[in-house]
Amino acid sequence: MTAKEIHEKILVLDSHCDTPIMLRRMGLDIGRRSGAGHVDLERMKEGGVNASFFAIYVSNKWEPFECTFKALEALASVCDMLDRYPDKAALATDARTAFELKKEGRIAIFLGMENAGPIHKDLSLLRLFHKMGVRYITLTHAGNNEVCDSCATLEKRWHGVSPFGRDLIAEMNRLGVLVDVAHISDEAFYDVLRYSTRPVVSTHSCCRALCDVPRNLTDQMIKDLAKNGGVIQINFNPPFLDKAYSLAVAPLLDAYEDAEEKYREDPQTNEKLMREAKKALFELPRPSYKRVVDHIDHVVSLVGPDHVGIGSDFDGIEVCPEGLEDISRLPVITEELCARGYAFTDIEKIMGGNFLRLL
Ligand SMILES: [Zn+2]
Repeated sequence: MTAKEIHEKILVLDSHCDTPIMLRRMGLDIGRRSGAGHVDLERMKEGGVNASFFAIYVSNKWEPFECTFKALEALASVCDMLDRYPDKAALATDARTAFELKKEGRIAIFLGMENAGPIHKDLSLLRLFHKMGVRYITLTHAGNNEVCDSCATLEKRWHGVSPFGRDLIAEMNRLGVLVDVAHISDEAFYDVLRYSTRPVVSTHSCCRALCDVPRNLTDQMIKDLAKNGGVIQINFNPPFLDKAYSLAVAPLLDAYEDAEEKYREDPQTNEKLMREAKKALFELPRPSYKRVVDHIDHVVSLVGPDHVGIGSDFDGIEVCPEGLEDISRLPVITEELCARGYAFTDIEKIMGGNFLRLL
């Protein structure tokens, strides 16, 4: 079978896109091919992507009530979008539905929540979000919250998972909402493994052995995650793929974000600043899509092919790998896996099967 035939035959699942941000903030019409962002239904179809998790993201900087409200807004915008294009996509909450939708030529949209902020300390809100279709929760994002610490903070609040976090994990296990360990601190990671009675996932992280940044998992963490039956879904974000790039891009990203903020306040005065910051950011040579497959290879060498997948982080990242500029380019991963000698069954697992097994 050719790589193209394999890609068409298997169910391809991406476990993390930040597209709901684009729906509301940018007014993206997901049914039409768009130049904005990295994802729309047309480009998903072109890329042979059958299922994707749309992340309901909230910031750790927002007030608690704002978190719940913005999560509801994001959910509403996904529901509106699905109502508008019933012939192209539909909400899915289990693996069987995803396979049925693939047969019908429609895309399965799953819901994940990035940061447990919208739940406050109220398990009935967790149950409500589960009823609305949320099937994984990334426990926190770039700050410590009521549930656990983040890998991004210097000062830790709980040194792992909080007492409420422990109750939350138990209820997520009972309901069948996957616990996502992306973004959390190493101590919190080990608490999650201790407390969770079900396999856990990292929906968009890479390997620290290949790129030593706190957002990535160490070899030992990957082994322990796999022992518990879990899956690590490789992130496409270049600063998580390659350490040299990560160091070189950091000041350019800061300048870009700064320029973006100034541009939002006063577009006229800051147009040139914004343009130059963007140019500098995109002129830096980016790691190739093959680097994504290096991370997949590394996980396979540690724990075999049953515990790895892809979680692009499209629409949540500024820069993409060379050759993987948006979701339509996804077949290059299957091609590269074929070129490296992976068997059909392993490619099927990596490109979606492993994550589907946990749903
Ligand atoms: Zn993220």
